[in-house]
Amino acid sequence: MTQNTTRAETLPERAELLPGVWRLPLPLRDSPLGHVNTYLVRADDGYLLVDCGWDTADTLETLQGHLRFLDIPIGDVRHLLITHIHPDHYGLAGRLREMSKAELSFHRLERLYIESRYVDADELLGEMHEWLRLNGTPAAELDRLNFGSMGILDRVRIAFPDRTLDGGEEITCGRFAFRVLWTPGHSAGHVCLYDAGHKVLLSGDHVLPHITPSVGLHVRAASNPLADYMDSLRLIGRLEAELVLPGHGEPFKGLPERTGELLAHHQRRLDEIVGLLSAEPRHALSGYEIASRMIWSRRRTWDDLSGFERRMAVTEALAHIELLHSRGKVEKAYGEAGFTYQVAEPA
Ligand SMILES: [Zn+2]
Ligand SMILES: [Zn+2]
Repeated sequence: MTQNTTRAETLPERAELLPGVWRLPLPLRDSPLGHVNTYLVRADDGYLLVDCGWDTADTLETLQGHLRFLDIPIGDVRHLLITHIHPDHYGLAGRLREMSKAELSFHRLERLYIESRYVDADELLGEMHEWLRLNGTPAAELDRLNFGSMGILDRVRIAFPDRTLDGGEEITCGRFAFRVLWTPGHSAGHVCLYDAGHKVLLSGDHVLPHITPSVGLHVRAASNPLADYMDSLRLIGRLEAELVLPGHGEPFKGLPERTGELLAHHQRRLDEIVGLLSAEPRHALSGYEIASRMIWSRRRTWDDLSGFERRMAVTEALAHIELLHSRGKVEKAYGEAGFTYQVAEPA
């Protein structure tokens, strides 16, 4: 994700946003995100918890503190719904289900990625290493880019869902009736929850107020994640939501404006890549070369980015390149050194 700030922030306040809907922020230690928002919704027979932070003692203690304050025994959390299986939304799910016996649900495509992301992590690392190489990452940088995120695996307690979602289901929960909306892009099986009657959207990481959610192409990613992301942004932007409850940052109004900003951001990146390739019409560039020439931050240059940030930049650049390729604007070639890209000849 593109961060506006990297300083540690204080944890936002717990708040009842609508009657029966609480925002329970949890800390994300050492993460520039600072916190993740979980949302608790009162049902007739207990509570629904949407997302749960990662598996560290301080995150669990904070969640327990919120529930204690509200006088809710953990066993009253009957349903745990995860918007997507990134560690900051899913990592604590296994432990929480053991403690609460809650039914765990998330999208079937997220279920599909659990093994490759968390169980076969070594195999994934090997594939990622080769894939970064094929996309032009210099040999001296390969390990740095590839190992940037490994520490995060300790913060995930693997849990398989009791129920998989497909999108379209209705989840009734006290006064609320949430429609599950499949919104692929940031993650292949990302879901949002929308209550049309109350005009409220729980947006996970699909739409965030200040941060641009990362959309990357990498091994074992969906075929064209940026196309998926932009399509599902347009879909969400048409909802009549008056209040958006995001996975990070403050609840906000103005959903169509925000989805419009995010679409414009990606269009600028697409234009930037076409501009970079057009400037060198006879010279093909690798994904790494394209990423290293793009502007990722107003204040920081490529040299300032960490290995993990560089990997995110390469996967994001490739998601944009893949979309341009699918539209016939960029040509892809494979040679000894790997894949390279060139601006397409006008037909
Ligand atoms: Zn995420
Ligand atoms: Zn997140």
